[in-house]
Amino acid sequence: MATRFLITLLTLLASVGPTFAQMSPPEASLNQNAESVDVRISFPGQDRKSVTLEGRRLATGTDLVHLPAAAIERVFRAGRLWDEGERRLQLRLGVHRCTLTADSRLVRIDDEERLLPVPPRALDGDLWVPMTFVVDMLAPLTSELFAWDQDQLHLIVGGVRPNIEGLDVRTAARSTQVRLQCRVPLGWRLEHGADGTLSLKIYGGVVDTRAVRRDQPRGLVQRVNSRQTGDNAEVIVTVSSLVSRTRSHAEDDGRTIVLVLEEEAGTLPDLQVRGEVTMAEPDQLRGERHVEVIVIDPGHGGDDHGVRGRGGIQEDDVVLRVAHDLRDELKDAGFTVVLTREDARGIEPDERAERANLVGGDLFISLHANAWFDSRIQGFEAWFLEAAGGVDQDPTAFVPWTLVQQQHLAGSADLAEHVTTRVAEQFDIPVRGVGQADLPWLMGVDMPAVVLELGYLTNGDDTDRLEDRRDRRRLAAAIAAAVKDIAAYSASLGGER
Ligand SMILES: [Zn+2]
Repeated sequence: MATRFLITLLTLLASVGPTFAQMSPPEASLNQNAESVDVRISFPGQDRKSVTLEGRRLATGTDLVHLPAAAIERVFRAGRLWDEGERRLQLRLGVHRCTLTADSRLVRIDDEERLLPVPPRALDGDLWVPMTFVVDMLAPLTSELFAWDQDQLHLIVGGVRPNIEGLDVRTAARSTQVRLQCRVPLGWRLEHGADGTLSLKIYGGVVDTRAVRRDQPRGLVQRVNSRQTGDNAEVIVTVSSLVSRTRSHAEDDGRTIVLVLEEEAGTLPDLQVRGEVTMAEPDQLRGERHVEVIVIDPGHGGDDHGVRGRGGIQEDDVVLRVAHDLRDELKDAGFTVVLTREDARGIEPDERAERANLVGGDLFISLHANAWFDSRIQGFEAWFLEAAGGVDQDPTAFVPWTLVQQQHLAGSADLAEHVTTRVAEQFDIPVRGVGQADLPWLMGVDMPAVVLELGYLTNGDDTDRLEDRRDRRRLAAAIAAAVKDIAAYSASLGGER
């Protein structure tokens, strides 16, 4: 019975597949002196003892943990073939074959190519693979569920503790609130279905589908259902035809997601709305916070040139050019624009956030470009910070700077989705999607923040576009269009520009 349940869930997970893992966040270099950390693996409800493995944080500037392949082989009971000459590892898991290569983020799983956030590393006679590979790529090939707790460095095999645990529907005179209790702050996006449903896509959410469900109508809510789709959870609310306005925001430091349904246009919600993170309809635009100051953060600079691509094109240079174009577009539209760096000179990661906060930015847009050894890989990506697991915050306490961005994840998710939508619409460039990653320089940014990977400098088409002045301008215009959408909607809610 339990096994069947797991397999059913797994089939669902495997059929959707994580999209985040297919994209590549900004580069991280090898930390040769990484200390060992204990990674615990437990198998609740199974006849297997917990094991503790040696992991290492091999990617500098990230929390990502690498594990030696020998250990993974044991946990997954996989077959292993290590080609020392090619520095290539093949893992065999049932009918599946995964191939990993040292220092390469490309993973081949059966006939499919996927990208890791950081590459595996050859060290001490073994290949050390990032935990992301285990959780996002290897686990879905098995008939078990896996949960990775990044804070506790604990991998739970065979059972997942949901992070969306409860549902509460409250009514007031002309409004109804659907309140979702989460263990950690999670980013989300509100979408409108054609059939009188609203859907909250919750990034990184693991939903307890039995707890987050309601069959009886209450207020403006007819029914609530939830489901798991790969890395994300979805909560579907069927609403009464009387609903004329909807919006969503977070409370309790991001741990309660609140969907507000209102009966009449223009009426204010009867329940008090607090919390900074707000998203709203009709086009999933961010609202409530007026959008006036845009901070553009051109990546790298100084001695750090970022990635180098075809014909010597350099990331720090190309992102600065796009930053200038974007600044012009936004200034023309009446925004105040601040660049974290104006020229080729470098800037410390923490300073980027500091400058943005100091000028009271409303949106933070970090510009980067990608590189990949396979020149066929191309496209535009938007990233926002992943939710911090297990954050237990005292709401009255000062928020440490490492958690500042956590409060804006919903807005960041919304900004990322909007930019990719506009870029796909207005600019002829493949859009690879939106992902969440460990992006240290966004942690302290006190406003919705995204990293835009503008294209792959190792790809001919992407490079040509980024080198072409008119194309750069069109790309900047598409990004600016997303900013304008968000500002216009925020203004329509009463925020002033
Ligand atoms: Zn970069």
